[in-house]
Amino acid sequence: MTTILRVEDLSVCMTSRTGELVPVLENLSFTVDKGRTMALVGESGCGKSMTALAIMRLLPEGFVITGGRVLLDDEDVLTARPRRLRALRGNAMSMVFQEPMTALNPLYTVGDQIAEVLRYHRRLSRSDAAEQAVGFLKAVQIPAAEERARAYPHQLSGGMRQRVMIAMALACKPKLLIADEPTTALDVTVQAQIFDLLAQLQDETETAIVLITHDLGAVAEIADEVSVLYAGRCIETGPAQQIVDRPRHPYTSGLLACVPHLSVGKARPAQWSDLGEIPGMVPSLGARGPDCAFLPRCANATEICRSRPQPPLEGVAADHAVSCWRAAEIAA
Ligand code: SF4
Repeated sequence: MTTILRVEDLSVCMTSRTGELVPVLENLSFTVDKGRTMALVGESGCGKSMTALAIMRLLPEGFVITGGRVLLDDEDVLTARPRRLRALRGNAMSMVFQEPMTALNPLYTVGDQIAEVLRYHRRLSRSDAAEQAVGFLKAVQIPAAEERARAYPHQLSGGMRQRVMIAMALACKPKLLIADEPTTALDVTVQAQIFDLLAQLQDETETAIVLITHDLGAVAEIADEVSVLYAGRCIETGPAQQIVDRPRHPYTSGLLACVPHLSVGKARPAQWSDLGEIPGMVPSLGARGPDCAFLPRCANATEICRSRPQPPLEGVAADHAVSCWRAAEIAA
């Protein structure tokens, strides 16, 4: 299997007003192979989007990469010069953002925006780029693509705008696609269509995908591997189905308990179970202690957890690693 993306010990800090470096991401490592999908899962503030922005080298002002490597097809993205970086973005790696309305330019038609990507990165003529833009709109299953290519973003539905974003992201056949909560702003039925579309396009192009989501329920359907992030650290990683079927970290179990399950067409259960919740909040930046970051919210915490530092990420099964002092007991 060809590894497309290798993230090694990636660390990101925020510079505080006093000039102090506050950790945002700590020693994050994962790989994504050709044609595979890695899901980064966690609540808001866990570091998922920062990971995506660090890989693309699009971190906002005040955030700096303080360590690690990001290898895209063995090329170090973090040391690439600006010109090379511009060539990598769009051509070799591209990103679908959460809210297409803010990512698309409201002053240009969607056809023009896709065509611009093709003209810039693939040096196509104006007419060839326009023709191929329509082809990409068809590929993402937009009906009446010729007509829609002449539409402005505000004239399309949220689902169609996200399809346009996917078409733009895939226009140059990138090796890596990063999808940052691509369905957050969409209805549940449209969410399923977008995930199906990504899976279908991946089958055709073998693009490696990093999917950022807070919805662990969707992960089993679409991801091959999962890394669960909490307070800027990876606390559980492994094959998606294994983690969904048998989570080992209390935080992962908590996220799964928050996923609603429909039982349409099934017999009414003897007793309805309440939808779960994880009490408390993700610690804010700068408020993380040296011990397990999940300790204040963890129902499984014991004296062991209070007396020890942050647990290391240790293997519990093939390709499955967990950062929890009590992982073995919790699994038993
Ligand atoms: S180390 Fe302790 S506090 Fe942290 S997740 Fe495991 S059981 Fe909970």
